[in-house]
Amino acid sequence: MSNEAPALVWFRQDLRLTDNPALAAAAASGRPLAFIYVLDDESPAQWRIGGAGRWWLHHSLSALSDAITKRGGRLLFRRGNAGKVLEQVVKEIGAAEIHWNRLYEPYAVKRDTALKALFSKLGCAAHSHNGALLFEPWEVETAAGGPFKVFTPFWRACRARGLPRTPVKLASTWRTAQSEVQSDALQSWALLPVRPNWAAGFKTRWTPGETGAKRALSAFVRSRIEKYANDRDLPAKDATSHLSPHLHWGEISPVQIYSVVDGLAGAEKFLSEIGWREFSHHLLFHFPTLPEAPWRSSFEKFGWRKDENAFRAWSSGQTGYPIVDAGMRELWATGYMHNRVRMITASFLIKHLLIDWRRGQDWFWDTLVDADLANNSASWQWVAGSGADASPYFRIFNPIVQGERYDPNGDYVRRWAPELRDLPAKYIHAPWTAPEQILADAKIALGVSYPRPVVDHAEARARALAAFQAL
Ligand code: FAD
Repeated sequence: MSNEAPALVWFRQDLRLTDNPALAAAAASGRPLAFIYVLDDESPAQWRIGGAGRWWLHHSLSALSDAITKRGGRLLFRRGNAGKVLEQVVKEIGAAEIHWNRLYEPYAVKRDTALKALFSKLGCAAHSHNGALLFEPWEVETAAGGPFKVFTPFWRACRARGLPRTPVKLASTWRTAQSEVQSDALQSWALLPVRPNWAAGFKTRWTPGETGAKRALSAFVRSRIEKYANDRDLPAKDATSHLSPHLHWGEISPVQIYSVVDGLAGAEKFLSEIGWREFSHHLLFHFPTLPEAPWRSSFEKFGWRKDENAFRAWSSGQTGYPIVDAGMRELWATGYMHNRVRMITASFLIKHLLIDWRRGQDWFWDTLVDADLANNSASWQWVAGSGADASPYFRIFNPIVQGERYDPNGDYVRRWAPELRDLPAKYIHAPWTAPEQILADAKIALGVSYPRPVVDHAEARARALAAFQAL
């Protein structure tokens, strides 16, 4: 411990010790280190961390705090408006420097810019670093000099640059600042759900924290990356990396992932998905209204339907379309949904039910452990057809055909909609087409044990086409 003015590391969505440029720079200053996480539900309240995200955050902070304690440090927990809290803590500990890794959410950019000015007035040097992306959104430009709006040339430009830097090693030792300052107990934040504990099933699926992230990457590289391009669209298979919540919370960096997988068989397709993450952040940074307003302004006038019963059927997995219902139930049970099924369920809400994509975005925001403002808003706008490089409006996923193509044996549906378990594969994606005897043999009473379709596919498709064409 030391009385010397410390360097403060402000953790945000970078809950790791390795390849953490903010931490590395603070350690390199030679000053004793102090660490803080601030739970800020005020700025802005609209995008306060959702329910599933809070579950993840609790466990991730607990893992980070343990890792810091093991190295003789102490992670401070404070709650409130981040600017006000940090101003107070900087004064309390007499910090000479503060370091953080940059965020790209519009409110975070605004807040952090203001904070830099504030800290410099207080005599505390503020330094921000890139710990979340391969390239800063302003570093990658079109030939004409502006943001990219189309994915393929964007990713080509990124790939041409190669690995942006080698991962930063964790300092072998650091000195710790005196730590008499007040800290909340993590438990007192009540981030975990109780009564009902809807996250009971999460723990079997996920290991939040840096160690869990590294294990997820190793397991993926060991047994799945080679077949990733072939199998990634099959929700019944465990074919993808499940790194999304670890990436969102910054328990692993894209630089670490890139440096491990580049050059491996099967890596190209996988890296391009990391590229979609980069692209979504690029878009959010350059078009900060992405979560709130359609990127194509022509969509502003679209007459979305208000239909609470239909929204409830969708969100609770009771639409009568098995692949949609299985996806929405996987989401509720695990805080995650397979990418292909995210596209199908989102398309169903927007196009079959004609419900505003922002309602779906909000539902995902609250229920996904990987809820991420950039990825979520860019993806919802992609499905709606209102986004940059988006799916065209006339691409209306047929939930029956999608089910038959990507879940041909119905294994995914059977896992998440077990009341359909005994239905032969031929009918599993359209139970209402099964002969009565087959339904009876499978112990299914349509409209009782499993719902009839909330909308007829052909009618819904025609209605959506007419509505979108009118734009
Ligand atoms: P992998 O296939 O192993 O991909 C590796 C990584 O690449 C992912 O962890 C993720 O960080 C990134 N990635 C993959 N696909 C995309 C994509 N289409 N857009 C941006 N990044 C991508 N992803 C989120 O991380 N947070 C969200 O809130 C989110 N909301 C979505 C909403 C909708 C409507 C849709 C269609 C997709 C959404 N995605 C979101 C993207 C994608 O579904 C998930 O990233 C992916 O399913 C996570 O599983 P994985 O880690 O096994 O992915």
